[in-house]
Amino acid sequence: MILKKRNEPESILFLKRGLVRCKKNRQEIQLELRNLEKGYQSEMKLDFYLHRMALSTQMVILQDIRLPAADGQTFFQIDSLLLTPYFGFIIDVKSQAGQFIFQHNARKFHYQLHGTKYGMKHPVSQVEEQEDQLINWLGGEWSKYTMVSVTALADPGAEVMADASSEWVYDRVMPFDLLKIRLKEASGNFIESFFQMNQLVEVGRRLAKAHCKPVLYYWKKFDLQDRDVARGVLCPFCNRLGMTRLRVIWECPHCGGRDRHAHLLSLFDYFVFVKPTMTNKECRDFLGIRNVHTARTLLNNCGILDWKGENRGRVYFLKKR
Ligand SMILES: [Zn+2]
Repeated sequence: MILKKRNEPESILFLKRGLVRCKKNRQEIQLELRNLEKGYQSEMKLDFYLHRMALSTQMVILQDIRLPAADGQTFFQIDSLLLTPYFGFIIDVKSQAGQFIFQHNARKFHYQLHGTKYGMKHPVSQVEEQEDQLINWLGGEWSKYTMVSVTALADPGAEVMADASSEWVYDRVMPFDLLKIRLKEASGNFIESFFQMNQLVEVGRRLAKAHCKPVLYYWKKFDLQDRDVARGVLCPFCNRLGMTRLRVIWECPHCGGRDRHAHLLSLFDYFVFVKPTMTNKECRDFLGIRNVHTARTLLNNCGILDWKGENRGRVYFLKKR
């Protein structure tokens, strides 16, 4: 039973929009977009693989959950979580090709592609951290529940290499094709039932509800200033900037497309690519409208913003989601 489905990350949508608007650091934006798209495709490949495995119906599945970490400041994210009455299964997906090399009882790890080393977190400790955070989040009796956590390699060209002292990592880091065997093994090993299905469904719903979408600070990440970001409402039909405001609708001068809500994502673009606050004047500049009242109506009624201050001093910012 899937209680939370994977959706395309909003970051992909906004990076594509960023490429229409930004003149600076385009290569970095493109690289980030490529990596995120590759990651998302790998995760969907996992969903397809698990679906084809025809898993037991005695299982609750959550795809892509992001929850507040124990420190109350940061978040932890799990690509796929499978909960059975007997054990839980955490899967972290890596989309990279290349070699995952473990030495000295896996205390030493490095990742390399075509002979060049690249930085990567230790896959085993990364997924163990997710497991610890999840158990802590669930609290109480969950500390006795067994979690099995694995790193799954989506690229058929990816390879795990372990010296004799590190061979145990083969049970922890593996290609998709071996996940089925690992799951079967776990089903054979953990036969004591901890929870009833209805309890798992209840917890699964709680987890799905607590999922927090990430806030995107691309102005910070890509070091963008106001002047680096092109203005205008982006046309949802032809992807060009500069829609004009008619009485209650936006019209594209390039393709003639009309849309009532085109300003919504364009307002979002401002908070993602320019800065975290907006005034009425900044709104008019960015959306390309003249009328103060039109801007105020759009800002007040768009449903994605909160504000503080009154009249000229009013400042808008994104609502917490
Ligand atoms: Zn257009």
